Amino acid sequence: MIDTVIFDMDGTLAETEEVHRLAFNQAFSDVGLDWSWDVALYRQLLKVTGGKERITHFITLQGGVADPEFVARLHKAKTEIYTAMVDAGAVPLRPGIKEFIEAARKQGITLAIATTTSMPNIEALLNSTLGGNWREIFPVVGAGDMVSKKKPAPDVYELALRELGKPPEHCVAIEDSRNGVLAARSAGLPVIAVRSTYSSDDDLSGAAVELPNCEALSIDLLSRISS
Ligand SMILES: [Mg+2]
Repeated sequence: MIDTVIFDMDGTLAETEEVHRLAFNQAFSDVGLDWSWDVALYRQLLKVTGGKERITHFITLQGGVADPEFVARLHKAKTEIYTAMVDAGAVPLRPGIKEFIEAARKQGITLAIATTTSMPNIEALLNSTLGGNWREIFPVVGAGDMVSKKKPAPDVYELALRELGKPPEHCVAIEDSRNGVLAARSAGLPVIAVRSTYSSDDDLSGAAVELPNCEALSIDLLSRISS
């Protein structure tokens, strides 16, 4: 019996990736770099999860050697830019998410988050979209900066399960990407997949069900899913 829903954030709760891309480019130009990630390139780079890892991968692709301190500083600047953009209301929740959250809470379903993004990004998005009481809505949040291995590794899901005190078969993950589906499956969770703009080509075949959009999410669906 599924009584817990664990959401991915980027691409699932909100189409954040386009704002992330613009924030990366702003951070690069602020330090005088001529790097510019267009949509096609960013689609490729998203196969590497985690912002610092993505910058490092890009430097390697260009034949360079990434200095971890430089990458960390650049990523910190990018996070500040991203946070300011989200605070300014640049990223809404995907249509259907708010309604599903409300319906789930009415049914006493526990809600959690397992994401590769870092805590400041999570706080910025949830504060601006759900308001200050988002911690009541999501009592457990697994963030990318709390684990050593990001998705597709199962670590962030395992962390969330530990904090929830739940076995994976009582939970379902909602994910938009291949890395996300793999991470949840590795942790033993069934997955509802909801494709996003940047995951339109992803293989989501490990998911129990794939929905056309978040408006198709329903409480009824949970009872039809099992691991
Ligand atoms: Mg995602």
